[in-house]
Amino acid sequence: MKTLSILGATGSIGTQALDVVERFPDRWCVRWLTTNTRVDEVLQLAAKHRAHGVVIADVEAYAKMTSKHGFDGQILAGTEALLNAAADTANDIVLSALVGFAGVAPTVAAIEAGTDIALANKETLVSAGEYIMKLVEKHNVSMTPVDSEHSAIQQCLAGEELSMIERLILTASGGPFRGYSAEQLQHVTLEQALKHPNWDMGAKITIDSSTLMNKGFEVIEARWLFDIPGDRIDVYVHPGSIVHSFVEFKDGSMKAQLGQPDMRVAIQYALSWPERLAADYPRLSLAEMSNLQFFAPDTTAFPCLDLAFQCMEAGGTAATVLNAANEIAVHAFLNKQIQYKHIVQTISETLANIQSIHAASLPEIVAVDAEARRQAAAFVQAIS
Ligand code: NAD
Ligand code: MG
Repeated sequence: MKTLSILGATGSIGTQALDVVERFPDRWCVRWLTTNTRVDEVLQLAAKHRAHGVVIADVEAYAKMTSKHGFDGQILAGTEALLNAAADTANDIVLSALVGFAGVAPTVAAIEAGTDIALANKETLVSAGEYIMKLVEKHNVSMTPVDSEHSAIQQCLAGEELSMIERLILTASGGPFRGYSAEQLQHVTLEQALKHPNWDMGAKITIDSSTLMNKGFEVIEARWLFDIPGDRIDVYVHPGSIVHSFVEFKDGSMKAQLGQPDMRVAIQYALSWPERLAADYPRLSLAEMSNLQFFAPDTTAFPCLDLAFQCMEAGGTAATVLNAANEIAVHAFLNKQIQYKHIVQTISETLANIQSIHAASLPEIVAVDAEARRQAAAFVQAIS
């Protein structure tokens, strides 16, 4: 029996993780469930899963709590409480499933407490990859990926040596605007961008998928997780989302992991790794695989992928700036403050204004993130 805390329990990943947990009552017991503002939902989930406690990160949302929904455990609020829940040494595993840079500090707190991490919050590795991987090594914890592409790679790597990897190939669905020209992308709406063809995810990652920034982030995530230089990571658009990624080995052999686009499989593997557990998630039929297609991505229409490669190459805090500017731009787009085409403009402008530095500590990374947010917000203000 392992003690599990879920940071971001009310989100798309968090709720699917609880679906996984419910299937294995002897495997995981739930300690902390956290949310930003979804007070009623987190309390209902905590009551159902008999959690030890909940944390509501947003104190204003906590102040408006009207019912405990039958939950009789601890109810805490604020950022400090979130960090304490992450750092609770009673945790065996922390699932980091917050969205955005807000996930960095709690993930660091959990690693420093010596707790194994199941990582959904890719922004942590985009913003602070080098720092985080050093911390993982120092505290001798495991970090298992929840992202379906990285889960696929980890599954392909079972029994293999990292040193025998020639190349990683990440697949991308291409999002709702696959095949659109740069010109067509000038006019797309928020409603169109929020309609992902294959996956039902939180709003921010759905927009990131439509711009291919999500894939750029995943390249950076893979670079850190599997300790491989960026020039040995490729991306192919694969509209069906059936092949979740490939590893090519030094003898020319290639392995792929396939399955229905169902995040529960990846979440379960991240939580049970190195074991695999039996479960009845929907199966893949061979008939569905008769037309597996792979294309090179169109980086002219979708420049975010190249921006991510460039930031990875530049090293230092370039990707910290990339992530921060993207968060501001996507947030503004979700609030209908800016148009779709302004997302990449905001990011490019911010990147052009901020020099990459080598940041060895968390406060330095936090400072770069804050400055990039400030500049991106000023640009958004100027154009909206
Ligand atoms: P979501 O928006 O559905 O959920 C986010 C969760 O984080 C919620 O519980 C929310 O209350 C909490 N949260 C948000 N902002 C917070 C803040 N400032 N402080 C504290 N808590 C906060 O997002 P999601 O789709 O579940 O994605 C979570 C992470 O997993 C993201 O990093 C995303 O890129 C990654 N991911 C998601 C999927 C997916 O299928 N949804 C797949 C791969 C990776
Ligand atoms: Mg993914």
